[in-house]
Amino acid sequence: MIDVCLLGSGGSMPNSKRFLSAVLLKTAGKMCLIDCGEGTQVSMKLLGWGFKKIDVICLTHFHGDHIYGLFGLLSTIGNSGRNDSITILGPKGLGKIALCIEALIPNLPFEIIYYENPHTYNFHNLEIQTINLHHSAPCLGYAFYLARQRIFDVNKALLLDIPKYYWNILQKGKEVVYNNQKYTKEMVLGHKRRGIKISIITDTRPTEDIPNFIKGSDLFICEGMYGENEDNEKAQHTKHMTFQEAAMLAKTGEVAEMVLTHFSPSLIEPENSLHNAKAVFENSFLSYDRMIIKLKFK
Ligand SMILES: [Zn+2]
Ligand SMILES: [Zn+2]
Repeated sequence: MIDVCLLGSGGSMPNSKRFLSAVLLKTAGKMCLIDCGEGTQVSMKLLGWGFKKIDVICLTHFHGDHIYGLFGLLSTIGNSGRNDSITILGPKGLGKIALCIEALIPNLPFEIIYYENPHTYNFHNLEIQTINLHHSAPCLGYAFYLARQRIFDVNKALLLDIPKYYWNILQKGKEVVYNNQKYTKEMVLGHKRRGIKISIITDTRPTEDIPNFIKGSDLFICEGMYGENEDNEKAQHTKHMTFQEAAMLAKTGEVAEMVLTHFSPSLIEPENSLHNAKAVFENSFLSYDRMIIKLKFK
């Protein structure tokens, strides 16, 4: 199971209704934050999931609307008594952000480990993958895959005469030696089961690679800077997307559902434009601050 919270749903500038880009993932008590725009801390306070359990921060890029909240948040986590290290992933240029953090908050009680432009990163039972996007600055999209344990085949275990005491150990993937015989998980586990996939794509123009990267996502969170199809020229110029373009990606990527986010401050009522996305991909929804989506294994 994995809980997703869209902490901020605005793009460019915060306003009274929307904070800026930030998504929080929570699974098995561990948290991963994607982007940290201005207002993220306030939104997290309102959410009430706490600050201390954030182990990984994935930055898409270094435009202010995605990182201006980072320094304050790290400082607060430091004040919360955390000593365990935090890992920050980000695109090319992450070293400069590291220097800013060092200059602004020099005495953090925990270590920060940086990975610039990583392809993959494993965090507990979450596998993180990245893709290069096409924006006005180096930018990464992220996919998160939560693997599901294979089912334990009781019949296989009984046939092999393995005592119940060892079943749980084998299911966790450890080997067992009993009566001078070695047993492995492959001997008792059933078929593989599908996990949960979440992909987050912001900020970018559509690219050829995105549909394959987001393929089969249970949840696809995508920027929708502009609502109207006529805004396409503007979107090309600013290296963003319209609702329609985002929906094309969702359709080609065969995702289960798409949540649009990162709305332009000029898009006061995105609900009036949602039909442009739904015309292409019916399972399109609009985000709002602190929208929570709970994803379960199917
Ligand atoms: Zn942005
Ligand atoms: Zn940007």
